[in-house]
Amino acid sequence: MAEQYDVVVIGGGPAGYVAAIRCAQLGLKTACVDAWCDAAGKPSLGGTCLNVGCIPSKALLESSAWYDKAQNEFTHHGIQIKGVKMDVPAMQARKEQVVRDLTQGIKALFSANKVSLHHGTARLLNNSQVEFTGKDNKTSVMLATHIILATGSSPINIPIAPLTDNMIVDSSGALAFDDVPKTLGIIGAGVIGLELGSVWRRLGAKVTILEATDSFLPMADEQLAKEALKHYTKQGMDIQLGARVEGAAVKGKQVEVSYQDKQGPQQIKVDKLVVAVGRKPNTKDIGAEQLGLKLDGRGFVEVDDYCRTNLPNVYAIGDIVRGPMLAHKGSEEGVMVAERIAGYKARVNYDNIPSVIYTEPELAWVGKTEQELKQAGVKYKSGVFPFAASGRARAAGDINGMIKVLADAETDRILGVHMLGAHCSELIACGVIAREMMASSEDLAMTMFAHPTLSEALHEAALAVAGHAIHIAGRKK
Ligand code: NAD
Repeated sequence: MAEQYDVVVIGGGPAGYVAAIRCAQLGLKTACVDAWCDAAGKPSLGGTCLNVGCIPSKALLESSAWYDKAQNEFTHHGIQIKGVKMDVPAMQARKEQVVRDLTQGIKALFSANKVSLHHGTARLLNNSQVEFTGKDNKTSVMLATHIILATGSSPINIPIAPLTDNMIVDSSGALAFDDVPKTLGIIGAGVIGLELGSVWRRLGAKVTILEATDSFLPMADEQLAKEALKHYTKQGMDIQLGARVEGAAVKGKQVEVSYQDKQGPQQIKVDKLVVAVGRKPNTKDIGAEQLGLKLDGRGFVEVDDYCRTNLPNVYAIGDIVRGPMLAHKGSEEGVMVAERIAGYKARVNYDNIPSVIYTEPELAWVGKTEQELKQAGVKYKSGVFPFAASGRARAAGDINGMIKVLADAETDRILGVHMLGAHCSELIACGVIAREMMASSEDLAMTMFAHPTLSEALHEAALAVAGHAIHIAGRKK
């Protein structure tokens, strides 16, 4: 007989697994269906983020940063070492272990919370029935009072650059190189292109990034994006804007990439090419069409502010719905939906989603950019503080970048916080909290920050909004 659940969650990534755990915490009988397998064919929860996204990329960024520092920065500290070598298979093995530990951790959390895990694929039959196909190809029906769709996204493949085995690859392939390519081409100067470009550049690859648009990171604050571009270029990444790739093919042991820029048709040859032109929602195989589940023109499930679809008791969260494709956004949606199913009035503050690009320096922001405020005609005040004037940043040798606070000209409420610098992925939480508490720049300015810390740069940027940062010369009020 078909098993009846209060909630069936389809997808075990950061949106789905978090939703499942929260449902179970709230006393709902919950099942989660997930199809992901590791290289050995074993179930591996956590979706893209844990298996081939956020976590493995951060593991490689960490390893490559250590190598880069050993090569280029240890001597600044008086540390003399000779013969630094990169053992790429060892680095990859460490990455795999990090992934294994975390994916196993979710499995343990499922057991502890009594989430029933089903390894295989699921398809909606109607708004209270799910067809489950196990790895043995046997199908069964699961009954559900509520269904949460969290099937995630996949890299967009473009026909002009068809993927090949290990030479033209997507982001997953670029996380798994077993050697450092001498030359690496990347299509797309988005988050993935910049992060993976940073990894292989630090390990010795000559990296060329071809970006179709003329603007660089248009979603970030323009001032900080321009500054970031200078640093990436100085590090040796060749980032070409206005370069639209029109074709790529393996020719012998190299990949020939043809593109158009302002000068006309161009060509480069690289050892490997990464296609990083965005991701698409995984909504093709969930049974949407037969059921009349509304999708938009790009395949995203249409939802309201509470992630309700047009089908009663069917919710969709994470990368398959509107908004940025970010793990933390999906997780918060998972918690919200679980709590609403349990009868609580939960919500997600979509105006306060932090973004981070884990390059060197790190770029992080929350709220509105200066260009967005200008475009909307909002009157605002701005305060900027450079890390070069921070004692802790000087002591650490991390003087690149700045923090910018944008506040409403009349109410002083913080509208945006933008950061470029070391550890900004961590520091941005201060900006997120300030905005969540509806703080003014004066609230931040009146808060005591420990000395010496990088966070003092946020304090000084808040002081600078009113024109009285202490450690910037020539400004007073
Ligand atoms: P993206 O949309 O951020 O960037 C893709 C870029 O490719 C765009 O700038 C686009 O103009 C360019 N492009 C497209 N076609 C091209 C062509 N023919 N020639 C040259 N350039 C071309 O996509 P992404 O970097 O693949 O990332 C996908 C998603 O994953 C994003 O939503 C991102 O937020 C998310 N992600 C987030 C993080 C993080 O939060 N740190 C890390 C990785 C990925």
